Amino acid sequence: MKILFLGTGATQTIPKPCCDCELCKMAQQDPKLRRNGPAIFLPEVNVLFDTPMDINHSITRENVKDVDATFYTHFHPDHTIGSLVFEQICWLWPEFRARKTMDVYFPEGVLEDLGKYKMDGTINFSANVRKIINIKRIGEKDAVKIKDYSIKPIKISKDNVWGFLIEHKGKKAFYAPCDIDIDIVTEKLKNEKIDVCILETGIAHITPETMKNMSKRGAYLFSDGLKKLKTLKCKNFVFTHIEENRQLTPERIKKLKTENTDIDFAYDGMVMKI
Ligand SMILES: [Zn+2]
Ligand SMILES: [Zn+2]
Repeated sequence: MKILFLGTGATQTIPKPCCDCELCKMAQQDPKLRRNGPAIFLPEVNVLFDTPMDINHSITRENVKDVDATFYTHFHPDHTIGSLVFEQICWLWPEFRARKTMDVYFPEGVLEDLGKYKMDGTINFSANVRKIINIKRIGEKDAVKIKDYSIKPIKISKDNVWGFLIEHKGKKAFYAPCDIDIDIVTEKLKNEKIDVCILETGIAHITPETMKNMSKRGAYLFSDGLKKLKTLKCKNFVFTHIEENRQLTPERIKKLKTENTDIDFAYDGMVMKI
């Protein structure tokens, strides 16, 4: 199995617009420190997970040749607002016709949530006007087979937030980049032997004030979350969705990795072979 990290930031990318903090200044100088919006890609089957606002830049930066299917984790804008990328990939100008159609998978409730907040316009336009995407609705019973990969949606929150269990040739990876309920994740995955869990970072660097604010919306303290995650039969944990506000500088990442040898932090352009 091969996983390419297209983007490892979130709503707040690194560098963040109009920010002159040290981390953003460093990232302006050093492309290796930049984090685009959150997305991964399976290069062996051309499968994309989520379309953040800068997905077209991430796809071109990594020289991705084509995308044949896309899966959505949830409706939040940092994961969906770049859906106009379907037109760039599937529509031919100036011929004014479809080059191809792409299957786009929405786990239960995700398309409805997009509609509720009037964020489904580009999706509807791609499906019904351009006719370049096929909307596929899936639930927990629907493992999607794409060549020798199996991609199974797992609901990991009381809200319509989903992760995906990706299986290929006896190897398993779990991807859930945002808004996870860590108790639901550990309960649902307790019987799975997983090679790598790729999860949101949570709060890796906090002040008491940020913890107070973030815990209101169910975010978890990194060390507490890690303790719960380590009850799983999982060999490695890779953290992503690293927002600018977490201020995870290279030194802080190094420190966390020294304290926990079985964890890693993803970066844009990272390729994992499992
Ligand atoms: Zn900044
Ligand atoms: Zn997010």
